[in-house]
Amino acid sequence: SDVFAGKTYAVLGLARSGLATVETLLASGARVVAWDSQETARAQVEGRAELGDPMEIDLSGFDGIVVSPGVPLNRHPITMRARIAGVPIIGDIELFALACPKLPPHKVVGITGTNGKSTTTALIHHIIEQAGYPTVMGGNIGLPILSQPPLEPNLHGVGVYVLELSSYQIDLTHSLDCDVAVLLNITPDHLDRYDGFEGYVASKARLFAMQSAEHVAIIAADDEPSRSVVVNVAGLPVLVQSSDIDPIAQLAWPALQGPHNAQNAAVAIAVAKALGIDTDTIANALASYASLPHRMQAVATRNGVLYVNDSKATNAASTAPALAAWPAKDGRPRIHWILGGVAKSDNLDECVPHFANVAHAYTIGEAGHMFADLLRPAMAVDDSEMLSAAVRRAARIAQPGDVVLLSPACASFDQFRDFEARGDAFVAAVAALD
Ligand code: ADP
Repeated sequence: SDVFAGKTYAVLGLARSGLATVETLLASGARVVAWDSQETARAQVEGRAELGDPMEIDLSGFDGIVVSPGVPLNRHPITMRARIAGVPIIGDIELFALACPKLPPHKVVGITGTNGKSTTTALIHHIIEQAGYPTVMGGNIGLPILSQPPLEPNLHGVGVYVLELSSYQIDLTHSLDCDVAVLLNITPDHLDRYDGFEGYVASKARLFAMQSAEHVAIIAADDEPSRSVVVNVAGLPVLVQSSDIDPIAQLAWPALQGPHNAQNAAVAIAVAKALGIDTDTIANALASYASLPHRMQAVATRNGVLYVNDSKATNAASTAPALAAWPAKDGRPRIHWILGGVAKSDNLDECVPHFANVAHAYTIGEAGHMFADLLRPAMAVDDSEMLSAAVRRAARIAQPGDVVLLSPACASFDQFRDFEARGDAFVAAVAALD
């Protein structure tokens, strides 16, 4: 398509989504000035895009500066520079949104929230796929949306783009009118990037402020900050509540256990209904959904002990539902909890209500000592330091029927490249048990 023909964009940051952005803009005839502080990253576009640091070049006449969501807009000097030049700072989702109206009559579903975005996005994508519609998933999950082939209409005549949107991505988006916009939950996280909690809530609310009134807004009304976003909705929002999920029905969805997944499922069901998908298809798709790696992923059962990789849980609020998923049986707690890494907070407040489900904790990483001290009054604790040592120790102590759960409530970068590498190390440590 030639939506961007005759336009000029600066692209700052040439990692995966930045590169896809450069390719898309060049292919549609735009002038592109690209930059990355790394020479090797710049080399990837050399000869095709112009090279120039947007902190130094004259930005007048530019149609936008495309930055990666990793750039902290509240602290980066590019923000002031762009404002002075009168050039909007945008992300790849905004480019997608600008190109959208030129696409065939496809629909866009946008999903945001503090926790559960990837699960819900993948689940909605799976339901739509099972219903026989062409669908593509992108945004904060999988491949950059601009590097994926555009949807082709099939017999139904319409396909669905399913976008996971972090608040940072929403901050860089101004024109995305989602056919269905979704908010899962809001709890304090990433506050360093916002002027307090209100700024973070406002960022989520903008997803709805961008929608036209005839489009659908779906909000999980389980927490107060999420309910407060309702005022940003032009039409009538659909409010869903996790408690509407029948626990008996949930038993039939192996990859969607625990109260947090009741919320994810409730929201996905509401989206599917808004798209006109029938209830039988929805029920079958919930049953056949397979969990994403590193999110409550059942890895193996050994000697009657279940090993679960929930490495993606990087804060206490994400770990809490994992601890709630295996309640004590016959008065005996069953969870062997591996936690630690780089703490986002010095407490585990959200997890406290579920401490009674924990048989034994094994702490690792930088926050290991601190969390060991914090937990000791409430449960048996080993400060194992290393993940592999924690897995071996838990394997010795756990009884048949127990669960060894990696749900760290911490970031991973003290000991691992990212949460995926941490989850992979857990899987490898389980495989190495004899
Ligand atoms: P995100 O993409 O928002 O980070 P994920 O779907 O990858 O969310 O889930 C990350 C972790 O958060 C999961 O491992 C689980 O522990 C927790 N989680 C998932 N869904 C929810 C929810 N609806 N509410 C709270 N926590 C959740």
